[in-house]
Amino acid sequence: MNRVIYGGPVFEMARQQFECVANHLQISEMDRDRLLYPKRAIAVSCPIHRDDGRTEVYQGYRVQHHLTLGPTKGGTRFAPSVDIGEVAALAIWMSWKCALAGLPYGGAKGGIPVDPHALSSRELEALSRRYMQEMIPFVGPHTDVMAPDMGTNEQVMAWFMDTYSMYQGQTVNEIVTGKPISAGGTLGRREATGRGVAYLIGRALEHLGIEAGSATAIIQGFGNVGSVTAYSLAERGFKIIGVSDHTAAYYDPAGLDLVRLRRHVAERGQLAGFSTQGLIEPSELLVSTCDVLVPAAIERVITGENAPMLKCRILAEGANGPTTPEADAILNQRGDEIFVLPDILCNAGGHRQLFRMGPGSPAIILGRS
Ligand code: NAD
Repeated sequence: MNRVIYGGPVFEMARQQFECVANHLQISEMDRDRLLYPKRAIAVSCPIHRDDGRTEVYQGYRVQHHLTLGPTKGGTRFAPSVDIGEVAALAIWMSWKCALAGLPYGGAKGGIPVDPHALSSRELEALSRRYMQEMIPFVGPHTDVMAPDMGTNEQVMAWFMDTYSMYQGQTVNEIVTGKPISAGGTLGRREATGRGVAYLIGRALEHLGIEAGSATAIIQGFGNVGSVTAYSLAERGFKIIGVSDHTAAYYDPAGLDLVRLRRHVAERGQLAGFSTQGLIEPSELLVSTCDVLVPAAIERVITGENAPMLKCRILAEGANGPTTPEADAILNQRGDEIFVLPDILCNAGGHRQLFRMGPGSPAIILGRS
């Protein structure tokens, strides 16, 4: 391979995982670069008017991992950490997830390095629309379909869809998944990832012979995936004893009040300020005793440093790439058999929803929902 444009810790992590599997499967050196490196990467500049009258330019990326099987598919992330290496790693993981779910798509991912909470709603709309406008030559229902990810939601998908549709001169709702139901979205898609995480945890409990009614769970991240996982586990009888987001972490061995938590986050957009009691250091939360630990926020939070200290029976990877290769090796060696539900299975609920509909279903024919 000549000079590689992808780098950074998240890409390096995906590369190491790939090498590990490639060694196990004895994939020839000749085929490795072809299988690992993305087919296509697009970088764009998105100028928008800020509310104070300034013009600001944001970089945006889209990486399409492989185009061999059919269109690519994958989320769009608005978060300060985004760089092309992170986006490439997420696109690669998405290909593996599609393969595992038996779906004929390649993986893709996109993103903008921006804190969406620091933008007004008007600014966020302008940025979302400009990003999609710049991407129009490279995406399409038969080329690459966008979806939500960290920092984007149904509203952002609706702006993407509308921008693409205006350009085409007709409604093209297959250009995104995760759009509002009123714009052609699928019932249950918003909840599908978190519900899938909870479903798999239920299956793992059965396998380990643990009663759901007596089980405890700690969840990192209280956005789409984390909050839906928490509610779905509570519905199954779990006691949710810890939650965190980027602003605060709460722990209560007697169980947290999810209804109050949900109301607080709906009103304030964050966990901070929920209560003066039960506050805990976020790093401590991850190593607190529980039956199920669900990292459902960002990459690389279970590391070589904290892996020896985990005190859970099941590690359910709701986020993409939460466990580093060093941590994987430590968990394998610990001997106390922490049962790991890996991300490409654990958070594939949105994919499985399509899969369950089966070939010939309206969602498969029309594109994706
Ligand atoms: P989201 O933006 O809805 O929520 C992200 C949550 O993580 C927020 O509560 C945020 O405060 C929290 N967070 C951010 N940084 C944190 C930190 N340092 N410590 C603790 N919490 C932190 O995003 P989401 O859609 O729920 O995605 C979460 C993860 O799940 C990502 O890794 C994403 O790639 C993955 N994922 C999402 C979907 C989906 O359908 N949305 C599907 C598969 C995988």
